[in-house]
Amino acid sequence: MSLKVAVIGSGITGLSLAYFLKDEEIELQVFERGDRIGGRIKTVEFSEELVEIGAVYYHSTNKLVSELVNDFNLNFKPLERQRVGLWDGERFVFKTSNSELLTQLKMLWKFGFGITKLGGLIGEVKDMNSSFYTGLPFTTVEEFLGDGMMRKSTSETVVRYLKSRGFSDKIIQNLVLPTLRYVYHHAGSSDSNAFSGIVSLIAYDSDPVYYLPEGNFALIENLASKISKVHLNSPIEKIEQLENGVMINDELKFDMAVICTPLEISNIELTNVNNKGLMINTFKGYYKTLVKGYPNLDYFGTKSMNDLPPMILTTMTSPFYGFEKIRDSTIGGDIYEITSSTQLSDDILNNLFTKIEISQSFELPYTFADLKVKNSFPPIIISKDIYYANAMDTIIATMESSVLMGLNISKLIMERT
Ligand SMILES: Cc1cc2nc3c(=O)[nH]c(=O)nc-3n(C[C@H](O)[C@H](O)[C@H](O)COP(=O)(O)OP(=O)(O)OC[C@H]3O[C@@H](n4cnc5c(N)ncnc54)[C@H](O)[C@@H]3O)c2cc1C
Repeated sequence: MSLKVAVIGSGITGLSLAYFLKDEEIELQVFERGDRIGGRIKTVEFSEELVEIGAVYYHSTNKLVSELVNDFNLNFKPLERQRVGLWDGERFVFKTSNSELLTQLKMLWKFGFGITKLGGLIGEVKDMNSSFYTGLPFTTVEEFLGDGMMRKSTSETVVRYLKSRGFSDKIIQNLVLPTLRYVYHHAGSSDSNAFSGIVSLIAYDSDPVYYLPEGNFALIENLASKISKVHLNSPIEKIEQLENGVMINDELKFDMAVICTPLEISNIELTNVNNKGLMINTFKGYYKTLVKGYPNLDYFGTKSMNDLPPMILTTMTSPFYGFEKIRDSTIGGDIYEITSSTQLSDDILNNLFTKIEISQSFELPYTFADLKVKNSFPPIIISKDIYYANAMDTIIATMESSVLMGLNISKLIMERT
């Protein structure tokens, strides 16, 4: 007799779990409360260009996402390295240069010899990432973390951890934290766990970072096309652990349920389970404003467009997290995206640009868990027949970690068939 499994959430976690189980003797149904699939992956069209509102890039060491992209014959491209500037709300604290050598010399000048340790740390992070795939399936986050670098870096703040590794305040404040803030938006702060901080540094690795020119939604659509039942507009409000199996919304009986969404934002009542330690994060929303226009060089204190770095990271004192040129255009100005915790007012936009051809603001109601140091983690196995795929959101939330959790739980389920 085949198992009946309910998957709650049609983001990349839920869809990849369903995809990994597609050839098994399992009757699987995906329930999505919204009217679209993809969750925090959302590709939109702006000024005839495809733009990502949620997840954008994946690193070449992301084995599982790379495999899916290949399986679906999707086109992928390496992201071109851009000049980066660090803006503190009033001036540029640092700018990289077009020449790699000049950038390295500038970094040495700005940050001192301590910066030469960065390459070594990035190498360690890559080794750590490659250990993600060993030991599957794991049944707890603690088991996944092991007792090496992953465990240590989740139990300390990024500032303390990097200080103990000999990195200076200057490097931490002016390079690591702005990068963390760029990658994790509001969740990236000085008391974030070190794990998220050092994983963000992979942005400085010389190996390529890729994007999908057709949009990440192509990945989501391909996953969904392999699955028979995705119910949209179908919120799950209650999951009850029965003696055997689960009851969903008081009416649907399944052998198992897998929660593929952060519980904190899901309004799911769990009954007959131990709820302790399940809801430990705060999630906040964010805005991405897309603008086709001409930046105000006076605002940034630069003399020419060549002087304005296409990618601007910010220190904690700036009103936005990032300001980035994402597409060139010959008519009407280039396309820029600005990320911020609140919607940017017309006044701010009119300060940032001298001429705006078109602008549109997008809201994501939740982005990342707060990433604070935590010494215990939500369970992956909530009760006998209820699994929680987003138990790791508190330490890492990427497309790769989501697919990894999908794969991990698919293996836990297969062990029961
Ligand atoms: C702004 C931003 C930028 C990012 N950039 C990157 C990046 O460049 N690279 C990268 O690898 N990752 C990035 N990420 C992270 C990545 O997008 C996420 O880790 C990943 O998409 C999470 O997928 P998920 O399926 O676990 O959760 P979600 O995508 O949040 O999916 C959960 C789904 O469950 C649904 N749901 C919730 N409650 C219920 C309910 N009660 N009943 C039914 N359905 C429910 C939701 O509507 C949603 O569709 C970014 C994230 C954000 C927000």
